[in-house]
Amino acid sequence: MSAEDVLVLGETKQGTPTDMTLELAACARQLASQTGGQAVVVLLGPEGKQAATQVADAHRVVVVEDDILATYTPAPYLELLSHLVDQSKPIALLVGSTSVGLDVAPLLAARMNLPIVGGCQKISAENGALKVTASFCAGKMLADVEISATPAVLMLLPGSYRAGGGAAPQVEIIRSPIALDPGPVCFEQMILPAATDVDITQQEVLVAVGRGIQQQDNLALAEELAEALGGAVCATRPIVDQGWLPLTRQVGKSGMTVKPKLYLALGVSGAPEHVEGLKGAGLIIAVNTDPKAPIFETAQYGVVADLLDVVPAITEALKAKTN
Ligand SMILES: Cc1cc2nc3c(=O)[nH]c(=O)nc-3n(C[C@H](O)[C@H](O)[C@H](O)COP(=O)(O)OP(=O)(O)OC[C@H]3O[C@@H](n4cnc5c(N)ncnc54)[C@H](O)[C@@H]3O)c2cc1C
Repeated sequence: MSAEDVLVLGETKQGTPTDMTLELAACARQLASQTGGQAVVVLLGPEGKQAATQVADAHRVVVVEDDILATYTPAPYLELLSHLVDQSKPIALLVGSTSVGLDVAPLLAARMNLPIVGGCQKISAENGALKVTASFCAGKMLADVEISATPAVLMLLPGSYRAGGGAAPQVEIIRSPIALDPGPVCFEQMILPAATDVDITQQEVLVAVGRGIQQQDNLALAEELAEALGGAVCATRPIVDQGWLPLTRQVGKSGMTVKPKLYLALGVSGAPEHVEGLKGAGLIIAVNTDPKAPIFETAQYGVVADLLDVVPAITEALKAKTN
């Protein structure tokens, strides 16, 4: 590796790269085109072998096979990443704002005395310096940061880059170049959510309901519209907190990050904690009675109206079109 290369800590789930990993690879490739280097993704653990060829935007994928890396624990990840960064001295190490990334990246930066930026939404390079746009205060503010010391550890927010799906990368499978110790924290059990509900992260059309829906009974209007559009219903946190929909339907900071082609926001105010989860959406259309609702700053199209009037009318029009 060279000082122009961009290193990525990838993650896998059941033998496939996570969406965050594909977005990190897309970001790394774009950055590498500006530095004149390569986008190199490291996948740690035995699952990496199966997932490697699917990380399409990477130039290279390095799989480090070691049973101790099969599930995340901080000590061996930290040990190995420190070694890889020290040996390769890339311009940046990109990690996702995931449970693993948020845990290991600050430890790594502190240990190696490297600059670190969290909440990155845009990363570029100019004349050897990194330029980052990062969100803070729960997305209420954006900071433009210039980093001249490298390698820098950059934590990317999900939904900031779109995976491009380029050619298959060159894959290299290696054993860990250093002896790894499990450390004091051990992995006990992976508890997966019940697979009985819709996976909103994979939907192309989402109809999001906020407190403006007013009553649980009115959810049927959103369900009907979602069905007519071939999508699913998701929600803001207050709707989930009231038990009207399960947590698997919540979009935002403490919910899911979604990337539908169409996001229809009904009676959603557009709080930063909600908007954080829909950065990857293609087209956002909002319906809200309040013309000053912040969602209109995020949406491409907005309707200032009562959703209880608008939603049945759209559903009816869609149904009339298909009949
Ligand atoms: C640490 C933390 C994490 C959080 N995580 C999340 C998260 O993951 N996801 C999330 O969503 N929130 C999250 N929140 C909460 C967030 O701050 C907001 O409180 C929440 O998103 C607001 O939900 P809402 O838009 O449904 O409700 P409100 O803010 O009450 O907005 C309701 C909107 O409906 C409009 N409206 C009312 N009646 C109608 C009508 N008849 N027709 C059309 N429009 C109407 C109103 O004008 C208003 O804009 C988090 C907060 C914190 C502090």
